[in-house]
Amino acid sequence: MVKVPRQIVFVTALLSAWLVFAVIFAGFFVIAEQQHDHTGKNCRVCLELQIAQRLIEAFALAGAAVLLARFVKSVTPIKRQVFIFAATPLTLKVKLNC
Ligand SMILES: [Zn+2]
Repeated sequence: MVKVPRQIVFVTALLSAWLVFAVIFAGFFVIAEQQHDHTGKNCRVCLELQIAQRLIEAFALAGAAVLLARFVKSVTPIKRQVFIFAATPLTLKVKLNC
């Protein structure tokens, strides 16, 4: 098992919490503005409703993809992780200015 640095775990958790927060409030916005006073062709509320609905749909699709990936990973017989190491001057710490 690969140990992930704490900073990456913290940033990932923070971004995940922010995404969940945005999706929840998008849902609240859609519920609250379903019966808004429609102003006509270029209604800003309708545009914001479409954006909120797309955010919710994208989150649902991403969640489904994560669940599918976890399922595929759990049923595959390969339990060992494979890391691909590319030898570059940067990874080999070669000075190029000598
Ligand atoms: Zn409208």
